[in-house]
Amino acid sequence: MSWDYDLVIAGGGMVGASLAAALAPLDLRIAVVETHLPDAAEQPSFDERSTAVAYGSRVILETIGCWEAISPHATPIDTIHISERGRPGISRIAAREQGVPALGYVVPNRVIGHAVWPLLESASNIELLTPASVEGVEIDAGEAVLSVAIGDGIRRITAGLLIAADGARSRLREALGVDASVSDYRQNAVVTTIATARPHRNTAYERFTDTGPLAVLPLDDDRCSVVWTVARETCDTVLGWDDDAFMAKLQEQFGFRLGEIERVARRAAYPLYLVQAQQQTRPRAVLLGNAAHGLHPVAGQGFNLSLRDVAALAETLAEHVDDPGGPRMLAQYDDWRRADQKKVIAFTDGLVRLFTNPLAPVRGARNAGLIMFELLPGAKRLFARHTMGRAGKLPRLARGVPLV
Ligand SMILES: Cc1cc2nc3c(=O)[nH]c(=O)nc-3n(C[C@H](O)[C@H](O)[C@H](O)COP(=O)(O)OP(=O)(O)OC[C@H]3O[C@@H](n4cnc5c(N)ncnc54)[C@H](O)[C@@H]3O)c2cc1C
Repeated sequence: MSWDYDLVIAGGGMVGASLAAALAPLDLRIAVVETHLPDAAEQPSFDERSTAVAYGSRVILETIGCWEAISPHATPIDTIHISERGRPGISRIAAREQGVPALGYVVPNRVIGHAVWPLLESASNIELLTPASVEGVEIDAGEAVLSVAIGDGIRRITAGLLIAADGARSRLREALGVDASVSDYRQNAVVTTIATARPHRNTAYERFTDTGPLAVLPLDDDRCSVVWTVARETCDTVLGWDDDAFMAKLQEQFGFRLGEIERVARRAAYPLYLVQAQQQTRPRAVLLGNAAHGLHPVAGQGFNLSLRDVAALAETLAEHVDDPGGPRMLAQYDDWRRADQKKVIAFTDGLVRLFTNPLAPVRGARNAGLIMFELLPGAKRLFARHTMGRAGKLPRLARGVPLV
């Protein structure tokens, strides 16, 4: 084919860059177009957040070749502790009981960027166009034609397949004519790092509070990453508190499981929406990552789900290197990924709605559910397999088998 590239990935964030790294061993000419240099302070994907990387995602990152660089900065999660503020029910899931070395790992997003981008820089079949941005796209049956703003000019680029990995507010989704349903949770996630008097012992805490879910995740140096969901209208007030006031209010919500909260870092906030593209494939195009589905961060599923998409897409492309973006390849990928995506979206959305429902009978029933869950090892095993990304038809990369 006479395309400039077999494949163009628009957006080299957490998901787009991971896909490029997964595809590096294939006989495909690839361009990654990314607005921000990976080290730039304003890079929106590799920012100050940390991500709970499920055990299944670790296997994918390991098979792609970037876990070695991540692992010194990855804090294992040995136990997940689930509770509801003001209610007695508690549930625990332990890695030991699930037969895995860790349920997952907490990794700073910047570390993921630092581990993945060097793989792209060293791959002879990948060209990195950055800083640059895809400004427009036209599709016909045989190719995707992109307008890329780079330097002072606009470059026209053709490709057999466009991967739109440009985030939840994807401009390419719109340019491709794909509608998205957007459900506003009317909550913001306030993200920060804390140090506590007692060590976290590699426990990840998921606590449901009146304002929404609160996650306290283990980090290195005995610090914890905090994702605290608050009602949108109170977010400015929360961000305006000084350190002492913030720590006191957080302590009130989290309790004293880790002793006193002693220090807190800067805070940042993210508005929370459920975004679902109506289609994830178009002729010569695939929507990936947040551009296809942006989830509430409760239970830390967004990146993990997308990484399984990446692994499945890479495997599908490996079977269609002679016509990436052709109708058979697109249908195969779409069929493969639908069920897992639907399940994870329903699970995270259901969890948010269940635990933000203020009605007394619902509150009673969910707490009873938490107690029942603790008593049913079979239910826990099933839950753990899903949240670890070990359920359903696993792509080769998720089984530790390289593509070539
Ligand atoms: C508070 C919070 C906590 C989270 N915690 C977890 C967790 O613990 N576990 C988990 O699995 N998930 C978690 N997530 C979800 C996870 O962060 C997302 O799934 C992930 O960031 C999606 O990555 P992405 O690459 O699809 O999109 P983005 O991160 O938005 O990246 C998009 C990239 O595209 C680039 N771009 C945009 N437009 C263009 C253009 N026109 N041309 C070129 N480049 C462009 C941007 O610069 C950016 O680099 C969390 C999310 C939030 C908000």
